[in-house]
Parts: sequence; C-alpha cells; structure tokens
Amino acid sequence: MDFSIPATTTELLRRVRRFLDEHLFPVEAELLALGFPAALPRLAALRAEVRAAGLWLPQMPATLGGLGLSLQEHGLVSEQLGQSPLGHYLFNCQAPDAGNMEILHKFGTPAQQQRFLAPLLAGEIRSCFSMTEPDSPGSNPTQLACQAVRDGDDYVINGRKWFTSGADGSAFAIVMAITAPEAEPHRRASMLLVPTDTPGFRVVRNIPIFGHAGADYDSHAEIAYEDCRVPAANLLGPAHAGFAIAQERLGPGRIHHCMRWLGICERALALLCRRAVARQLGPGEALADKQIVQVWAAESRAHIDAARLMVLRTAWLIDQQGFAAAREEVSLIKFHVAAVLAEVLERAIQVHGALGLTDDTVLAWFYTRERGARIYDGPDEVHKMVVARRIFHRYSKAGAP
Ligand SMILES: Cc1cc2nc3c(=O)[nH]c(=O)nc-3n(C[C@H](O)[C@H](O)[C@H](O)COP(=O)(O)OP(=O)(O)OC[C@H]3O[C@@H](n4cnc5c(N)ncnc54)[C@H](O)[C@@H]3O)c2cc1C
Repeated sequence: MDFSIPATTTELLRRVRRFLDEHLFPVEAELLALGFPAALPRLAALRAEVRAAGLWLPQMPATLGGLGLSLQEHGLVSEQLGQSPLGHYLFNCQAPDAGNMEILHKFGTPAQQQRFLAPLLAGEIRSCFSMTEPDSPGSNPTQLACQAVRDGDDYVINGRKWFTSGADGSAFAIVMAITAPEAEPHRRASMLLVPTDTPGFRVVRNIPIFGHAGADYDSHAEIAYEDCRVPAANLLGPAHAGFAIAQERLGPGRIHHCMRWLGICERALALLCRRAVARQLGPGEALADKQIVQVWAAESRAHIDAARLMVLRTAWLIDQQGFAAAREEVSLIKFHVAAVLAEVLERAIQVHGALGLTDDTVLAWFYTRERGARIYDGPDEVHKMVVARRIFHRYSKAGAP
C-alpha cells in the first residue's frame, strides 16, 4: 500500500484548489442564497470555465472526456470539491449523475449511450436515480413494490418513489422496478431509463426537508409512475439484473461520498478554528483559549485524518482488487465517516453560537443537507450489521483467534 501522492496528482489538486479559490468561493454565498433555479446561468458559466481549465469530469475515463483518474486520485479531488456545496456540480461529478454515468458507461447500449450518456457527460442535462419508495423499506430494496410489466415492445411502470434526488429539472430517471416478482429476491428488479417527459411520469412534489423543499438540483422528489410506458430498448443492462448493477454503482459512489464528506469536515474545521481564535469572550480571552474548544479542534483533526486514511485505503483496495474485495471496508467507511461528519459539523456550529444556525456561514447548509449521510446509501445500522457479520464469521471459523 502506497499513499504517496504522485506529482501529477499533487499538481491536479493544486489546480482544482486554485479554481475553487479564484472562481467559486468568492461567489459561493451569493449563489447559494439565489437558489439553484436562479443561479443556473451563472453555474453554467462556471462549468464552462471548469471545462476550459481541463478539469471537467474528473471521475470519468479520458476516452469519455474525463481525467481518467484512479478511484484513490478521484477521492482526493472529491475531498477538495466537497469543501463547497457547489464543487461537485461545477465539475460534473455530482451525485446521482456520476453514478448514472458510470452504469450507462458500463451497461448502456450504444444507442442508450448516445441518447442519455453523451449529453450527461457534456453537462447539457441532469438525471436522477429512482429506487426508494415511501411504502417499502429502502434499507431492504428486495421489498420494492414498483413494478414494470412487459407489454409487447414496452415496459409499463406503476408505483410510487420518493427521495429521487434532483428529479426536478432532470431529463431522465433511472428507475429500479420489479420485473420478475416470482424470482429469488435479488433477481427480481430491473433498471429502466425513463425520460421525465414520458406520459405517466409525475413529480408529485419536492419533499420539504427541515422546512426547505428546494428546487432543481437541490431537491428530493416524490414521483408517481402511472402507466408510464417506455420501450423495452430502455432496459439498462440485462433484465432482472437491477441489484447487480446497483452494487456496481454503490461501491465507487461511497468512496466519492466519503471523500466529499471529508472535504466538508475540512471546511467546517477551518471555520471552527477561525471563529475560535477571532471570537473574544472577554479582554484577552479568545474562545480558542477554552479547553473544550481545544479538545474539539484536536479531536476533529485526529478523526478527520484517521477517516481519510481509512477511505484512501479502501479506494486503494478497490483500485487493486475490485469492489468485492473491499465490501467490509466500504461499509466501515460509510458509517464511520458519516459519524465524523456529523460530529465535526455539530462542533463547528456550536463554536459559532447563534451565528452557526444562520445562513451567514455555509455550516447550516451542510448541516441540513448532510444529516442524510447517515441514512442514504445504506443507513448506519445496516452497514454496522454487514461489518459485524463478517467479523463474527471470522471468529466462528475453527482456529480463529
Ligand atoms: C438526502 C437523501 C437523498 C436520497 N437520495 C436518493 C435517491 O436519489 N434515490 C433513491 O432511490 N433514494 C434516495 N434516498 C433514499 C435512501 O436511499 C433511503 O432513505 C435509505 O435507503 C433508507 O431507506 P428508508 O428511508 O426507507 O428507511 P427504512 O428502510 O425504513 O429504515 C429506517 C431506519 O431503520 C433502521 N434500520 C433499517 N434496517 C435496519 C437493520 N437491518 N438493523 C437495524 N436497524 C435498521 C435504520 O435506522 C434506518 O434509518 C435518499 C435519502 C436521503 C436522506
């Protein structure tokens, strides 16, 4: 295992950082206050600058116009971009599009790639991923109820989904629906490409989250699929292989999320420290002089650094041996980094006092948007169960320590 960062990656990280410092951070607060729909023209202009700077699509192979980075390298870029809520979006590596690009690249037919993947790569459209349902447990997707029934050359989809992130403004959804109800649980579902202007695709609402329904990319929709008919040619990958494809999507996706969360942690810790040294509680007495704040700063530093090593090691393992070899590690980092994120954000807000709750810093944005980190892509409890089962399995083998 070699964690030294190649000179080319260091140079890339420096360029990414310089772009953020020069182009994004100075306007970030203004853009966030505008909200996505109003900010879109300016975001598009910034995206054009990212392209011109040769930093577009860091997660994709060079043959598709990306930077062709390893997972470990992209993780480091993702950490930089995560320092702003707009970073990934500007570089066209935001969830869920990044995952959708990946599975379209791996499983899409040439016609699907031309119609759906090419404009995604170009940043001309956005997409969403529609799996979770209000009336079935997302943490056990074998229980999905939404069905896609074959009818001649079409599939007809009926069901209700929610938390389809960014559906508002998306050009198409990748929908996970049951196509073989009698098959064994992990061979029941398929993925289907559904243009959002298909009759029967209805956005019921953008779901208010902590009082904020949001719009466009910053939203999570409830969607009704009502006799929503798509050609069988819109099947993504083999029929009934939805779970296998979802696994492909989630492995790298969790590395991306974890490194993004570490970027948020770095930003939050920097804000904590700046505030702690600047805020005077009395004459000659800064907040940073208080032992509890010192403990928060020191512990946060340690927890972030340790978490980063865990994630980089997991990315390295996937790069070397594939996702299957890193299942336990992926679950470990998913719940661990989400906990570090929650802890560091909480402390940063506390150090800011009432200011921490306002939109005058980026902390409140992160706090409300990222509480979901402990729930999406598998709740903490499910990942802990996965890890614990593997640990106990090793102890149940004869001769285990
Ligand atoms: C911000 C955000 C964005 C999202 N974006 C998308 C998206 O784009 N597309 C999409 O399809 N979905 C999306 N989701 C949905 C997400 O994937 C689900 O919320 C998640 O899978 C959990 O499913 P659930 O909400 O139905 O919770 P449930 O399955 O009902 O679980 C509820 C709780 O039960 C507990 N629990 C569950 N299983 C176990 C267990 N085995 N042992 C112990 N406790 C357990 C956990 O505490 C869990 O939080 C998003 C969610 C959030 C919060």
